[in-house]
Amino acid sequence: MRSDALNPLFAEVDTLDGVGTKLKKPLDRLGLTRVKDVAYHLPERFVSRRAVQNLDEAGEGEQIVIALTPTEHRASRNQRGPYRVLAQDAVGNVLALTYFGRASYNAKKQLPVGEKRWVAGKLERYGDMLQIVHPDHVLEEGGESLGHLCEPVYRLSEGLTQPLIGKLVAQALERLPDLSEWIEPSQLDAQQWPNWRDALHLAHRGEHEAARDRLAYDEMLANALALMLVRADNRKRQGQPLHGDGRLRDKLALPFPLTGAQTRSIAEIEGDLAQQSPMLRLLQGDVGAGKTVVALEAMLIAVEAGAQAALLAPTELLARQHYETLRRMAAPTGANIAILTGRDKGKAREATLMGLMDGSIDIVVGTHALFQDQVAYRDLALVVIDEQHRFGVSQRLMLASKGKRTPHVLAMTATPIPRTLTLAQYGELDVSKLDELPPGRQPIDTRVVGIERLDEVVSGIARHIEGGGQAYWVCPMVRDSEEGDTAAAEARFAALRERFGDDVAMVHGQLASELKDAAMERFVSGDAKLLVATTVIEVGVDVPNATLMVIEQAERFGLAQLHQLRGRVGRGSEKSVCLLLRSGELSETSRARLALMRETQDGFRLAEEDLRLRGGGELLGTRQSGDAPFQLATLEQITRLLPVAHDDACLLVERDGGLDGERGNAARVLLYLLERDFGVRTLRGG
Ligand code: ADP
Ligand code: MG
Repeated sequence: MRSDALNPLFAEVDTLDGVGTKLKKPLDRLGLTRVKDVAYHLPERFVSRRAVQNLDEAGEGEQIVIALTPTEHRASRNQRGPYRVLAQDAVGNVLALTYFGRASYNAKKQLPVGEKRWVAGKLERYGDMLQIVHPDHVLEEGGESLGHLCEPVYRLSEGLTQPLIGKLVAQALERLPDLSEWIEPSQLDAQQWPNWRDALHLAHRGEHEAARDRLAYDEMLANALALMLVRADNRKRQGQPLHGDGRLRDKLALPFPLTGAQTRSIAEIEGDLAQQSPMLRLLQGDVGAGKTVVALEAMLIAVEAGAQAALLAPTELLARQHYETLRRMAAPTGANIAILTGRDKGKAREATLMGLMDGSIDIVVGTHALFQDQVAYRDLALVVIDEQHRFGVSQRLMLASKGKRTPHVLAMTATPIPRTLTLAQYGELDVSKLDELPPGRQPIDTRVVGIERLDEVVSGIARHIEGGGQAYWVCPMVRDSEEGDTAAAEARFAALRERFGDDVAMVHGQLASELKDAAMERFVSGDAKLLVATTVIEVGVDVPNATLMVIEQAERFGLAQLHQLRGRVGRGSEKSVCLLLRSGELSETSRARLALMRETQDGFRLAEEDLRLRGGGELLGTRQSGDAPFQLATLEQITRLLPVAHDDACLLVERDGGLDGERGNAARVLLYLLERDFGVRTLRGG
């Protein structure tokens, strides 16, 4: 049960004064739906501004507060142009206060001509005019107090302003209850951290490292604790020991011998499966290392032991492909393999559900539809999760209860996660590594090419296709916008069709599923020669005959992602080429990043470099998707404090045997506060 003390924090955001239907939407867009979310909406940065008598005292780019008198309002002639209010300072200098879009409504009310106002904002130059765009504050009086002040700057969405959100934060902070301390007192002393409530107050007030550290530590402690409880619970659970007799695996007619790393990983998995306590193992192997075969062998062990296995894929596309591949490879074994995704409907779906229930289906491949309530298994004993980094933490660990007993779990990833981060995501976990690529792979020839050479690139593709090859064309990533990605792909597709006609196919996330399938099928069968795609092909897609890839606006992608994408080629013994198209002007960093792509094919090195350059976001999952284990903790804090939090959680669980005792109870509150209560649930044996 959640402690009552937390109720005010979990109240809906509209219980704050001033939040009605109008504000709810923009708050929603920021993910601020409850009072607690507002309290934890920490400033992105702080500004300190200077009060100046007149503009001669201020420098361009400076944050200032100044008294101004509006002289004229100028609406722009066209709809989209800015709205300007001209104003004079005390000595007659003229300045424009510039507003875009709906912000001009406020300007009209707040800045009547001829009346003095205090204005705070950043002084800029536009042409030969000084201006402040969207001032942070416009006040009738009391402006002096805005100077010398260190003020928080919050992330906003349209419809919100800094003062508005500032007021909501203040209210939310007032509602913080007094909570007992969950951090070890000696730790708190040594670090000189404030208590939880003070830490939140301080973090909103200024750059306060100790406060930020403490809040980040809370998050890491909660996470470590939850994972540890889940893991301890997992060990206690009754799994199903699976002993395969090899009768199906012997019939597998693989077209290649397994690599040493594959054989070793399979043996490690086989050892785990034979145990009573459920396996929780991560299989790490760079793109193209051959994880699918390992998964197949593991699933066949389960089938040999008379049970069922499921393979969970992050996308429909990948699920379909795995289904085809596994069916082809496993045909000689006679194992019955089915597919189940959100799209499979009607009779076919009914038949699959029946087969899973009566046990006539041995292996099922699918998306998260595999774990919906209506899906019942006769005896699900092994769950393989492909490209695990695409799934949320709780999803990964909570798959549990579908079988009669807790199934064994094998999570596969191509992302070489450094140990600190593995710890963050899974707690302690057994790891198998495919550190050896199948023989005969040639390095991918990677080149960086300017977009101005587009015509040459297209001609190159034409030659490649004439020679019997196939190619991918990956379209630019438009930041945080699936529609943008789609538009870019559609446009490129249209252009390339002019040249290549029916040889071109296209896939992107917003295409109707039948069209997606049809396009993929045409490409896999070799009927289509060129596949224009968004990053939907990033994971798993395997067409060995495609040996040329073009990635447009490559500088927009993260290194780890480029590496994944590039991993779609170089999958056979043919020489492969990857062209990174870059747009005109590149920053120093972008240049260096693309150069590194050219230089190395070592996924681990690229991932680490990505971490260094961009922070942990990409490896840890996107923050917005709710996938990331941490909202507050930065990569630097994770590196520095996670091991401490981990040890602390260990002590707490082992010494108190769970979450009893005074500090244990406080920690329980923390788990609810930071919504890691799936950890608590395991305590109740749920
Ligand atoms: P990933 O680890 O990226 O999931 P896949 O399982 O898709 O890699 O395998 C990549 C390609 O390598 C596939 O075409 C697969 O058939 C092939 N492959 C896998 N294992 C071997 C091996 N031991 N020898 C040769 N080719 C292999
Ligand atoms: Mg794969």
